[in-house]
This record gives sequence, C-alpha cells and structure tokens, in this order.
Amino acid sequence: MTSKVVVVGGGIAGIQAALDLGDMGYEVHLVERTPSIGGRMAQLDKTFPTNDCSLCILSPKMISCAGHENIKLHTYSEIESADGGFPKTRVRIREKARYVILSRCTGCGDCIAKCPVKVTFEFEEGLSKRKAVYLPFPQAVPRKVTIDAEHCRMITEGKCGVCKKVCQAGAIDYEQKDSFVDLEAGAVVIATGFDLADASALRQYGLGTCKDVITSLQLERILSAAGPTGGRLTRPSDDTEPKKLAFVQCVGSRDSRMFKYCSSVCCMYATKESILVREHVPDIESTIFYMDMRATGKGFQEFVLRAERSYGVRYIRSRPAEVQPASDGRGVLVTYDTGGGIGEQRTEKFDLLVLCPALVPSKGTSEIARILGVELDENGFIMTPDTRNPIDSTKKGVLVCGFAGEPMDIPDSVAQATGVAARVAELLQEAR
Ligand SMILES: Cc1cc2nc3c(=O)[nH]c(=O)nc-3n(C[C@H](O)[C@H](O)[C@H](O)COP(=O)(O)OP(=O)(O)OC[C@H]3O[C@@H](n4cnc5c(N)ncnc54)[C@H](O)[C@@H]3O)c2cc1C
Repeated sequence: MTSKVVVVGGGIAGIQAALDLGDMGYEVHLVERTPSIGGRMAQLDKTFPTNDCSLCILSPKMISCAGHENIKLHTYSEIESADGGFPKTRVRIREKARYVILSRCTGCGDCIAKCPVKVTFEFEEGLSKRKAVYLPFPQAVPRKVTIDAEHCRMITEGKCGVCKKVCQAGAIDYEQKDSFVDLEAGAVVIATGFDLADASALRQYGLGTCKDVITSLQLERILSAAGPTGGRLTRPSDDTEPKKLAFVQCVGSRDSRMFKYCSSVCCMYATKESILVREHVPDIESTIFYMDMRATGKGFQEFVLRAERSYGVRYIRSRPAEVQPASDGRGVLVTYDTGGGIGEQRTEKFDLLVLCPALVPSKGTSEIARILGVELDENGFIMTPDTRNPIDSTKKGVLVCGFAGEPMDIPDSVAQATGVAARVAELLQEAR
C-alpha cells in the first residue's frame, strides 16, 4: 500500500490538509499552480469576524508546510495526468520552468530592480505593475523569483539578459525546461479554490466604465499596508480619500442571469471591509446594498450588529438598478429602490463603489476534475454526492476541501481540510 497523498491547490484548505496529513506520517505532495502557496487568503488584509491580520495567521502555516519533513512542495506546478484508481493512482506532476535555479536564488530582488519589463500584477488585482522577473508577494513561500516567460525579453526576443548579469548567485537559467515527477498516490485531495466572476459583464454596475468602481478584492489590496498604495485608501479617479463609500452585494450571485447560488462569504467580508475602511479614513460613511443578510457563522450576527451600531454602517436592502459616473467624472451615481422593491427610486452619489462579485469555482477546478475523472455539480464545483461523507467526490480516494467543493469561508475551509485528512487516513487504513 502506498502512503503518498497528493494535495492539489495550495490555498488555506490545501495547506491545512497537507499539514494534517504530514503530521500523521503520510508523504504529502502539495501541488500549487502559481509560484507560491497561500491562495486567496494571502491577498486579504484582515479576516472576519475577528479582523485578525490575514498573513499573520497564514504565514506560519505556509512556513510549516515548507519546512515539514513529510511535505514536498511543488509550486509553479500542475497535475499533468492521473491514471489508475484508489489506492494506487499514478500521478504525473509537471513542474513548470521558472528559468531560475531554486537552490541558488536567495530572493534578494537585485534582478527585479533591474528588469526593464513591466506587466500587470495579478496578485495586486491589476492595481499595479510587476516586472517580468518577480516575487508573487513579499511573504511568498518559497521566497524565490520566477521569470514570466511570456513577457521576458530574453526568452521571447533573445535580447536583454540583465537579470542574469546582476544575479550574484548565478540563479538565472534561460535554458531551463519543464520537469516531471511521477509517483503513485494512495489518495488525491482537490483544494483548487475560487475565482471572482467578471463583474464587468453586468454593465449596469459600471466596472470598467466608471473609474471609481472597484471589486472587493481590489479593496482588500488597497487596505493592505503591503498593497499597491501602501495601505492608503484613495479612489482611482483623483487619488483623494473617499468620504462616502458603498458596497453592492450579490453582483452575479443569486442572479438567474449569471450564478444562481449564494457565494456565502460576501455579507461578512463586506461588513468587515466597511469596518476596516474606518481605520484608514475615520470619518468615512459606509453603505451596504444587500439582498438578505447571511450571517450564519459563530459570532457573525454580533459582527454585523457591531458594524451597524459602533461603526454606523448603513445597510440598505436593495439591489441597485444602475451605476453611472458622476458628471465631473469623480465618484458615482447609484440608482436604487429604497424599500425592498416596493419603495421609491432614489439616486445617491458615492465617492467610491465596491462590487462584491460572484465567487466561482477556479478554472483549475474543472481542469483537475477532468484529469482525475470526477464529476462537477451544476455550478461547476466538485460534486460531493454522499451526504454522509460530504468531502468525498464521485471517485473513491479523491476528496475535496475548501471552496473547490462549495463556497465557504476560511474557518470552514480549515475545518473541512482537517476532516479530509482524517477521511484519507480512514480510507488508506481500510485499504491496507
Ligand atoms: C474579497 C474577499 C474577502 C474575503 N474575506 C474573508 C474573510 O475575511 N474571512 C474568511 O473567512 N473568508 C474570507 N474570504 C473567503 C476566503 O478567501 C476563502 O474562504 C478561502 O480563500 C478558501 O480557501 P481555498 O484554499 O479553498 O481556496 P483558494 O484560496 O482559492 O486557494 C486555491 C489554490 O489552488 C490553486 N489552484 C487552482 N487550481 C489549481 C490546479 N489545477 N492545480 C494546482 N493548483 C491550483 C490556486 O492557485 C490557489 O492557490 C474572502 C473572499 C473574498 C473574495
């Protein structure tokens, strides 16, 4: 019997599952497609309902993963193929070329400083630029640079080579090729998380056409001291502090035109963000346009009441019909119904509008489902048909945790990951 377990996706759910399985003595291969583990939680400023610093909770777990004797990290990697089945699945992992020798790179950043190419920074949700050679974020694990082959002038045109010239460690290798790891896994855990739906598809909300409309994840980055503005809350049109801010919930979720299901975390993170903005601009006024307030977790209802009573957050039960730029191009005009569909129509000006887009299964979720031969549900999440074991997929020995299975917050993702680890141990014991 093999005691290797492959965990696909290095967000908080995959990290927790890997740590628990590693502690049980299994040889864990944690496969993450981006250059660092951490997932979406690494992009968050603080987390509800305690408003603890997100990376202060996540970083120790990331570092434990990297240092764990039973966990092998495969970052910038993907599952190429999977054959056979429980308890012996032959898995091939593709480790993509970073054009950097990891054992030599010290993460000093000299190459980044000299690289002449600037491209959109994914981690900063498009709010700033990164270089073609880059660190995904300061606390990345591993803290090693990656060369983005698509934009590197040396790789695309054979011109430049400055990163290699300045790298004292001799870590740059433009000839590096993808490499492969083959192994036999007893079980596979899917923890491939979520993406944000494209809110610009709902044109009435103004994303992409009104400068002062941003997404909730962009606001997380703006609020972060390590983010693109150094934690300064300003609006895009004129770089001034907004004094009147509004959130629109359910942008694409619970909407028959896009995604019928509830994204589950938006009521709470909009409440969190409306509290956090006060730390940045003490006299800011926040309004949340919502359909229903879903505050079902431990301490969540109290959190909403605190936002309302102690921070003056205004909750309006309404789905805005239209968002337009203000006549001077600064701020937005939001048209909404004042009373759950039966009130009067009002148009109000806000300095900044934050959209809470539907959260959808990541692109990697359908890809890994196809490779592993498991089914997806009607919304594209990993199907979990057995209510007695809601972490089992449609294929024995392939399990799921976190957002890849259904929308869920961080505490639930962590709890489910621990449950998955126990379930893997149970299945592998049975197979002995
Ligand atoms: C704006 C916003 C604010 C939020 N605030 C909070 C909060 O305050 N508190 C809270 O509890 N929750 C919050 N959440 C929800 C929280 O982000 C999620 O609960 C959590 O990130 C889920 O973790 P995960 O590991 O399941 O998924 P993810 O964090 O999405 O991680 C999935 C990982 O899998 C990787 N991956 C994807 N496909 C593949 C593949 N095929 N192969 C390899 N790797 C792959 C991805 O690159 C990623 O690293 C917020 C969400 C948003 C959008």
